[in-house]
This record gives sequence, C-alpha cells and structure tokens, in this order.
Amino acid sequence: MRFYSTNLESVPVDLRTALLIGQAADKGLYMPERIPVLSNPEIEGLKGKSYPEVAFAVMRVWTHGLLTADELLKVCYECYDYPVPLERVNARRYLMRLDRGPTASFKDFAARMMARLLRHIIKEEGGELVILTATSGDTGSAVAHAFHNVEGIRMVVLFPIAEVSVRQRQQMTTLGGNVTTIGVEGKFDDCQALVKRAFADPDLRHIRFSSANSINIGRLLPQSVYYFYACAQLADPGVRPVFAVPSGNFGNMCAGMLAWRMGLPAARFVIATNENDEFPRFLASGRYEKIVPSRKCISNAMNVGHPSNLPRLVALYGGVMDEQGNIRKAPDLGAMQRDMFSLSITDQETRETIVSAYQRHRTILEPHGAVGWAALERFAAEKEPELAIAIETAHPAKFPEEIKNLLGIDPEPPPALAGLENKPEHYTTGPADYNWFKDFLLQQRFQV
Ligand SMILES: *Cc1c(COP(=O)(O)O)cnc(C)c1O
Repeated sequence: MRFYSTNLESVPVDLRTALLIGQAADKGLYMPERIPVLSNPEIEGLKGKSYPEVAFAVMRVWTHGLLTADELLKVCYECYDYPVPLERVNARRYLMRLDRGPTASFKDFAARMMARLLRHIIKEEGGELVILTATSGDTGSAVAHAFHNVEGIRMVVLFPIAEVSVRQRQQMTTLGGNVTTIGVEGKFDDCQALVKRAFADPDLRHIRFSSANSINIGRLLPQSVYYFYACAQLADPGVRPVFAVPSGNFGNMCAGMLAWRMGLPAARFVIATNENDEFPRFLASGRYEKIVPSRKCISNAMNVGHPSNLPRLVALYGGVMDEQGNIRKAPDLGAMQRDMFSLSITDQETRETIVSAYQRHRTILEPHGAVGWAALERFAAEKEPELAIAIETAHPAKFPEEIKNLLGIDPEPPPALAGLENKPEHYTTGPADYNWFKDFLLQQRFQV
C-alpha cells in the first residue's frame, strides 16, 4: 500500500513514512494510490458488530504490513472504549453522536488511533517521538488526550494563554505525565510560529519531532470507520443512507468519501459549512476562492476559509489542487455535484435549528451539529431520503452558554468533561519568544 502526494512532485511512500512525516516535501497531502474495496459479504458481515470490530475490519486494509491482526485488534479495543450513540430522531433520520470520547469531540476518533499507530512505529525504531502542537483550543486537547500515557511519545502543547476558555485549558493542563503544556503570552499565530521554527531549527535536529496535525493521513483513515459503523447498525440491505457532515477543514467529509470508494453503501453526502462558504460556491461553479480572513461563526471549529483537506477531495475526482488552493487540473465537477449537496448555513439558521430540533424532536444539538442538521433539513425539503444520518461532532455541554441562551437548559456534561475543575493543573507560562522556547525544549532531555 503506497501513498502519493496530491501535488504529484514527491515520491510515493508507505504508511509508516506518511504517518511520521505528515506532509509530503512538495507540501502535498498523502492519498492512497489505490483504494481497497470491501466486498459485499465483508460489508454485510459488519452488521451488528461492535465499534472496535468495525474499526478492525476497516483499518485492517490500510495497516497490512504495519501491524499484525492481533496488534490491530488490541489497538481498536483500546481506542474505542466509549459509546457511539446513534440517536433516532424520527423514522427516517438519525443523529450519530461522535461526542463521547475523552474530549467530547469527534476528533478523538482519529487522534487516538493515530497515537497508537505512531507508538507502534516508535517502539520498533527506538527513541522518543516528540509531538509538538500549537492549538487555539480543541485540537490540542484531543491530540494531548490521545497521546497521554502512550509509551515512547512526549507531547508539548502550546496555547495562547488569554485566548482559550478555562475548560479548554483544563482539558489540556490536567493530564500531566508525558503531556507538557505551555501557556504562551501571545496569540495562536505566535504559538504556531514557535512550533514551525522549532521544526526547522538545526540545533534541535537531534530531537525527533512530529506535528500530528490534522492533515496527517493517520488522522483521516480512522474517520472512515464510523460511516461503516452507522450503515452496519442502521441500514437494511438495499437502503443507502444520505450522510450530513458539518465541515471545516474537510477531514471528516473526505474520510466519508474515502469510505464510499471503499464500498460504503451511501446515497449522497450533504456537506454543510457555516458562513465560510468557499466550498458550496466551488461545487456550484468550479471556481475556488478562499476566504481570508475566515469568518467568525458560533460553530467556531468550522471557521475555515481554506480547508486544508480540499486537495484530497479534488484528487478523488481526478483533479489537482495545490496547498494554496490553485487548481492545476480541474476535477470532474459533474460527478462531484452528483455525489454531494453542499450548503452554507448562517449563524442565525444555526441558532434557529438548535431551537427547532429541540422543540420538534427533543434533541439537543450544539452549533456544529446544528449546521449539519440545518443543511439536511434543506436537502430533505425537496425529497426526504429513505434514511439520513447526520453527524454531531461535539457534545452540547462544550457550548453551555449558547445552549442555555437558546433552550434555557444546562446540558449535562459527559463523564469526560465532568469534574475537570477539581483536578490540579500543570502548565508553564512563557513569552512568545523563540529563544525562550528553544531553551525550554533543550532542558526537557528527550530521549533521542
Ligand atoms: C474540527 C471540528 C469540525 C470540523 O471537522 P473537519 O474534519 O475539519 O471538517 C466540526 N465540528 C467540531 C466540533 C470540530 O471540532
């Protein structure tokens, strides 16, 4: 199994290399040269299986040669030890809640698997892998939780001290162990600049760094699993569901499209964005214009004006898009339009949807899931699909103010978020100054 760069200027690599380096040298994203297809009996065999079992069946096709079957099965049980509720909203519609992981965000699904794949590689190669990540809030905590207590890995998270919520900070700083957190007196961009300089610094070349960022193929592949899981739980033979996916950086939806190519019995994908509407416009016209700076919406994890996974989607349709968003070869737009329906949802519609979903169905949505649900409503207004599955990407308790304002209720936090305020926090604070950060890293005595 080899992975090529979407910019087509780097040599293809195996999964091990793609996981370790993340992004290709030509700044492209890795994609599989060939997409393995699960046979119909294999897909029917997933019916009624547990989440770890479905994860095993799907990840097995990608990880041949990297992990043995026994190793992978163990990893799947370790990663997915929390529920994946499929909530029936009405006879034809379900909500898949991907919010019961350790940080109550769907990012847990991919981050946990990637951490264990990297653990496996590092164990074989020896030494220590240092994951260096800058975060504006949520990604950092999902990644930090995923790598927490994973042998062979040290994690350094930088966050802008004045720009993350108390709860977001507590999610990162109460871990301890192999997770080091630094509150930087600066902005998110300063944190990111520090990380980038450290990666490029010849004085730190002895340290084995990885960024574990969202464009790593290891973050994408495990997200295909929940699409198969939903079909296996809900779809009768012959029924092809429509999936509604709230999208920002387009990792979630790309994983869904990948699953579809692997044989997922889906009918269509509803791709929902907030007011950052560059994708719906692109799908309608074939012209791509990023939005700079991105628009600030209440579904803040989707405030992306130039989705970094878009080159992968374009590649799936035979085109080439570079990391800047320039289209070097046009994709098959007609096929894209047949497969996807894409809509931009305003903040006002998002809020109205949170209210109406609660009034009509007693379902509590948070802003990201509400964007997906709103787009599904509009899609279904034309013709109600036989079966539709909307994805909820975060837990409503992560947005208590918004939910309280709109619904007058205080959503109960899931176990993962409960009691955080009573745990001791450990973090260092420092200036947005590279020399300070470099000294800090040199004092850590990473095993090389
Ligand atoms: C990251 C995130 C998204 C966007 O997912 P993409 O894969 O980047 O499209 C949506 N909702 C929540 C809660 C997120 O954290």
